Amino acid sequence: MKVLVINTGSSSIKYQLFNMPSGQVFCSGLLERVGDIKGILTHKTYPGTDKELKHVETKPIRNHSVGMARVAELLVDKEFGIINSANEIDLVGHRVVHGGEKFAKTTEITKDVKEAIKHLSPLAPLHNPANLIGIEVAEQIFAKAKQVAVFDTAFHQSIPEKAFRYAIPSKFYTKNGVRVYGFHGTSHRYITKRAASLLNKPIEEVNLITIHIGNGASMAAIKNGKSIDTTLGLTPLPGLVMGTRSGDIDPGVIFYLNETLGYALKDIKNILNKESGLKGLTNDNDMRVITERVEKGDKEALLALEIYTYRIKKYIGAYLAAIGEKPDAIIFTAGVGENSAVIRLMAVGGLLHLGIELDAELNKKGGGERCISSTNSSIAIWVIPTNEELEIARQAVGIA
Ligand code: AMP
Repeated sequence: MKVLVINTGSSSIKYQLFNMPSGQVFCSGLLERVGDIKGILTHKTYPGTDKELKHVETKPIRNHSVGMARVAELLVDKEFGIINSANEIDLVGHRVVHGGEKFAKTTEITKDVKEAIKHLSPLAPLHNPANLIGIEVAEQIFAKAKQVAVFDTAFHQSIPEKAFRYAIPSKFYTKNGVRVYGFHGTSHRYITKRAASLLNKPIEEVNLITIHIGNGASMAAIKNGKSIDTTLGLTPLPGLVMGTRSGDIDPGVIFYLNETLGYALKDIKNILNKESGLKGLTNDNDMRVITERVEKGDKEALLALEIYTYRIKKYIGAYLAAIGEKPDAIIFTAGVGENSAVIRLMAVGGLLHLGIELDAELNKKGGGERCISSTNSSIAIWVIPTNEELEIARQAVGIA
């Protein structure tokens, strides 16, 4: 079965074509700067294998339709193509950011589902409209394929009400749906399944703290294979310190910036989403650059790492309490979690009294899925690389 996974952002389209159920990747690509005269398309055939072919082109990509049409051309291209016609695609799996309370599961896309995704747009104004455009364009180009929506919020729909409600007047929940939804659900779900398999436990029995730290970042408390709490909320702003997002702040800061310092609400929104987090603290949002600065003795960069990892540590404590029994493992994933030994060390350092200790050597070496806890640690610590695209493909096949 040929399954195309599409992740449409406001100015980008990411795609991967899988052979399912084997999970082999035929090709993958990224289109950046959609809507710009200098669009960049990077397309790889058989990525990561010794047969890999890479093609990069820069040309105007007026809109998502133009971009997706070019992707479809490349899929059938003589040199870089994999298929003979767009009709060979059996399934298209779309990442959709916000599924609200309506979608706790992967869903085949119908007219009603598209309406519902549109209706949820006020909750994810940067993402859901772009996801919808991706769906509509794919429906035209891959007309023979079944189109499936995989929601980033779905995995967290198991969070109990005591954890998903905010203590604000109830009508904002009952009438307006203001509550914790959580995001990165596809990643937390993938990690949970992998961890259950690596730990040799049925998924219904696995208890975990999953730490997804990339450019965006979130943690989840997993009990009996289900999400019972997570750090992102109504929007992807709260919780951990992120590349450019603030994570948790006192909501009163917003009133102070507005009423006392005179910032307009739209500017505050921009500050908290795009100018805060690591960028706000150091002027850099790439953890590699910040870590290099720390190695050169930069105190501002060191403080940023302390704030970043202290926040993770606090949530580990919170989630140990929320799970209510000793979890099987703490898992690090995504760009920072998979690659930064120093962040892992700072995040879980000093927690031996809670049964958590890294093995300093194991933490520093190796790649891929690996256990990095010491023999003293009663809770295992793992690094498990995430693979959201493969999870979307599996979810899509699951309902096919
Ligand atoms: P993601 O959103 O999962 O793609 O993660 C992207 C982030 O991972 C980048 O912004 C980097 O800050 C971080 N990252 C990638 N490689 C490394 C590395 N070797 N060390 C530290 N951080 C890294």
